[in-house]
This record gives sequence, structure tokens and C-alpha cells, in this order.
Amino acid sequence: MTRIYRLLFLTLAFAPIAYSQSRPDRQIAITIDDLPASAAQFMSAQEITDVTTRIVGTLKQQQIPAVGFVNENKLYMRTGEVDARIAALNQWLDAGLELGNHAYSHPSFNRVGLKDFEESVIRGETVTRTLLAQRGKKIRYFRHPFLNVGRDLQSRQELESFLVNRGYRIAPVTIDPEDWAFAPIYDAALRSGDTALQQQIVAAFLKYADGVFDYDEKFSHELFGYEPPQIILLHGNNLEAGHLGDLLEMLRKRGYHFVSLESALDDFAYSSPNTYVGDNGVGWLVQWAITRSHALPKGAPEFPPDMQKLRKALPPPLANAPTPPVL
Ligand SMILES: [Zn+2]
Repeated sequence: MTRIYRLLFLTLAFAPIAYSQSRPDRQIAITIDDLPASAAQFMSAQEITDVTTRIVGTLKQQQIPAVGFVNENKLYMRTGEVDARIAALNQWLDAGLELGNHAYSHPSFNRVGLKDFEESVIRGETVTRTLLAQRGKKIRYFRHPFLNVGRDLQSRQELESFLVNRGYRIAPVTIDPEDWAFAPIYDAALRSGDTALQQQIVAAFLKYADGVFDYDEKFSHELFGYEPPQIILLHGNNLEAGHLGDLLEMLRKRGYHFVSLESALDDFAYSSPNTYVGDNGVGWLVQWAITRSHALPKGAPEFPPDMQKLRKALPPPLANAPTPPVL
């Protein structure tokens, strides 16, 4: 073997190692909100069980930790279905996943007073706390609906003190690919049996999510000089039931490893000062940037206009389901 061939051989032989070493080592924690399902008011218990089985099945099969955040009012939306809807929550725990509190009726803290909000927190943990206790576990995490953390600093801090005193750790969000906005149009395409449109919506969602990651990874570097473990916000819906696996594959290609929320929160970034207040519910990267008077990076991905058009064409009750816009 001549020198040049030997060199070529070595280059080719070690190319995969070099490639894997050059791939960034990123971490992410998965969180899924609005359980037992975002559109629980439009779904039968059987449909909720199906969605749960597929989401939980994907996570379990891939051994990915996740925390699901519950709105317990969704357990009581149809008479005669309470037990079946509670059983869907048990599927999460049976699979070794964790459940947290997302307040009883998904209220906006920016719209209701502290007292009403605290009541929704307390009422929202009734069943979940019991299910966890049956397994010797405690409820640990709270996620603000709409990411509304308060309109003024005093309110924000009063609520945070209340949550901490009740044993909660607040679950931040750093990545929001807005699956809730794609979910109602995907549901409509499922109902009409239009598989081509379903595929188009899935492709648009994954492409948009990729753009959100591009932006937020750069944003993280600007703020911290590195990428802290990210925390992604997803929802219990048909889109995730059918395509969570596709999203996870995309994340692996970006170099992500899946970590628990607990492990992600150990990172220094999540202890950095955060005094953001305002009418808009925004992710923690934006909250940290505003706290430091740091300009938001340019180039935020645009929500796909063709998908926006489909959203606008939905009949009003469905267009707003399951969750009004975060921003
Ligand atoms: Zn929510």
C-alpha cells in the first residue's frame, strides 16, 4: 500500500468517528402539556387513551424520560368517563414517566388574580398527587399555562413563593415549536381523511421545529456562551401521537441526548436571574434576555404562512382549540 493509499484508507476508515466527534453533544428534556389531552373537550375517552398509548409508547420504547403536565378539569369534561381519563394518566406513571401540575383549568395567571390562580393550582393537583402517592412519589413540577408568569414583579414573586412553599419546582421552557398551532389543522385533516394534507402539515411542523432549534441554539450561545440542556414544550395531541418519533429522530440528528427535567435544571443557566414580567407568555431564553436588557437575536423563524391560512379557515371553536396562542 503506497503512502497516499494508506492515508486515504485511514481517512475513510476513521471518517465515521471523526463525524460523530464533530457532532455537538446536546441535551434536551421532554415535557408534554395539557394532559390527558389538549383537545379533551372534543375527544372521547377512547380517543384520549389512543393518543396516550402512542405518545407514552414512543417514549417508553426509546427509553426517553419525560414529564407530562396535567389539567385535571379535563378529567371531568364528559360524564361517565372520569375513570377512563384517569387511567390515561396512570399510563404515564406505569411507563415510568412523571406527571406535574399545569393548574386545574389552564388559567392565565396574567388574567386571574393570585388567589384564584392559587386555588387552580391546589385543585389541579388532587388526582395527580394521589396517583403519584400510590407509587410512593410526590408531585414536583409546575408549568405556567400560556407561560404567563406575571404582569408585574410582585405578582410573579408572590406566585413563585407560593409554588415553592407547596413543594413545586417551576418547569421552564426554552424551546417551543408551537405544535399546538399545527394540532387543530392536523386534526381536521385526520377527520377529512386527507392523507396528503396530513403529510404536508407534518412536514411543515418538522421544518418549522428545525428552524426553532437553529434559532434557539444560537440564542443560547449568545446568552451563555454554550447551549444549556434545552427544555422543549410539546402537547398531548394527535400530531404528537402520530409523529413524536419523527421529531425525536430530528433531535438525534441535531446531536441531542435525552435527559430528565431534573437533570436539565441542574445546569447553572436555570439559576440565572429572571425578572421578566409582561402580558406575553414567552420562553425562558427571551425572559433571560429581557432580564439582562439583551437584544433578541434577529432571524426568528416565521410560522409557515400556508399553515396559518389553514388555521384561519378552521371553524372558530376548533381554530382556538386546544390552546390559544402563547404569544
Ligand atoms: Zn398548556
